[in-house]
Amino acid sequence: MCCYDLHSHSTASDGTLDPAGLVEKAHSAGVDVLALTDHDTLDGLAEAAQAVSELDLSLIPGVEISVTWQAMTIHVLGLNVDPLNQALSDGLQELQKVRDWRAGEISRKLANKGIPGALEGADRFRKGKILSRTHFAYFLVEAGYAASVRDVFKRFLVKGKPGYVHNEWVSMQRALGWIRQAGGLPVIAHPARYRLTRSKLKRLVGEFREAGGVGLEVVSGSHSRDETLHMGAVCREHRLFASCGSDYHGPEKPWVELGRLRRLPDACIPIWEAESWPPGLAV
Ligand code: AMP
Ligand code: MN
Ligand code: MN
Ligand code: MN
Repeated sequence: MCCYDLHSHSTASDGTLDPAGLVEKAHSAGVDVLALTDHDTLDGLAEAAQAVSELDLSLIPGVEISVTWQAMTIHVLGLNVDPLNQALSDGLQELQKVRDWRAGEISRKLANKGIPGALEGADRFRKGKILSRTHFAYFLVEAGYAASVRDVFKRFLVKGKPGYVHNEWVSMQRALGWIRQAGGLPVIAHPARYRLTRSKLKRLVGEFREAGGVGLEVVSGSHSRDETLHMGAVCREHRLFASCGSDYHGPEKPWVELGRLRRLPDACIPIWEAESWPPGLAV
């Protein structure tokens, strides 16, 4: 059986392995089909494509887009996007500007709380263009304000905490427009992470489908077994394709490994059986 891992990160966003290192790691972990899906950027894809050319591994060019839906952040994966598509790269450029604005605000708020130099500090951990809350977390741990990245998020970087800044990403409609124009398949990432009520989840999936969405990430490195079964049922009810991905960010989070994923629940139709899935990659 073919091993699919359709959600992963590199140093182009907030992962800790560079794209070539990620690809090698996926290969040695036994992954046959890997999607690189960095947050709001396609910058790692060329290096990853170069690295797979010598390996027995297929790369799906992807992206994980930050979407604002009903004042919440929802992550939407675009799988098999054309990395050269102008509409998509222009759109992602807008999101990078939002990120840069937000980073300044986070830094300003932290400075008001007696933590100076956060922007420069976070910037030192960034390897690509994307500045993520994860980079702020590394700085805050290094500077001794918290014991771990998890701890930083809980104490500083989530809603209601001193370094939290609300911002608008992009609407669901626009994000899906970019993905579709780039020939990709839109998939809602880690749906159980949003802690939505039954009716809100239904509304999200409904609007997502109307905007051209086709898949739900049923199996995720951040889903429990019960969450996986629940999302499998949602997937079938709404006639979406099921996807699976580790959401790997690097060896620093040893509880998430590449390619070590649960099977899709019975009766879910895998996204690699979609008609528009790249031929030759569905095994
Ligand atoms: P951003 O897109 O810059 O807002 O950062 C979100 C990223 O931070 C996610 O993709 C995760 O990698 C990471 N993250 C979010 N929440 C947590 C948390 N509670 N603990 C550790 N990492 C987190
Ligand atoms: Mn991340
Ligand atoms: Mn995500
Ligand atoms: Mn992710």
